[in-house]
Amino acid sequence: MKFLYATNLQIPNTIMNRAIFPGTFDPFTIGHYSIVERGLSFFDEIVIGIGFNQKKKTLFTVEKRLDMIQQAFAHEKRVKIMSYNSLTVDFALSVQANFVLRGLRSVGDFEYERTIADANRKLTGIETVILFTESKYSYISSTVARELLTYGKDISVFLPPNVKI
Ligand code: ADP
Repeated sequence: MKFLYATNLQIPNTIMNRAIFPGTFDPFTIGHYSIVERGLSFFDEIVIGIGFNQKKKTLFTVEKRLDMIQQAFAHEKRVKIMSYNSLTVDFALSVQANFVLRGLRSVGDFEYERTIADANRKLTGIETVILFTESKYSYISSTVARELLTYGKDISVFLPPNVKI
């Protein structure tokens, strides 16, 4: 009988898996942070892409969102942060990413994520990798954070460690 030992396998070490993590991040929450941290266990590099659309009103400017995310990942060289105002797949291609990373909280998120993932794959072949949220973060959303801020409430429990508004 012939055995194939793992040591005989030629594994090229030049292949790199880069994902984009696109979103509005208005603001970037601990739920988003957790998805990126977990994604780093299987992606070599993650480019966080802040979707920016002049027609869409946001509470935080792109500069502020960029600054907050930079604070969160100051310690992590494998995370890059950029803003973009193109189609998400075009952004992925422009940074040579081969995956899109997204997070899923509920069945409410599911249909939306599936539609976008299907469209992105048809357009470019880029696959979407979806992580279920950690259940302790399933209630965390940018919408609720913005709502609380509007009423002058403290949202520090919604934010990643080391991030101040
Ligand atoms: P978008 O406007 O593209 O939906 P968001 O900033 O709302 O952007 O979210 C970006 C991604 O993060 C989405 O995949 C969303 O489902 C995911 N996400 C948002 N909040 C959480 C959370 N608490 N846990 C896990 N994933 C989340």
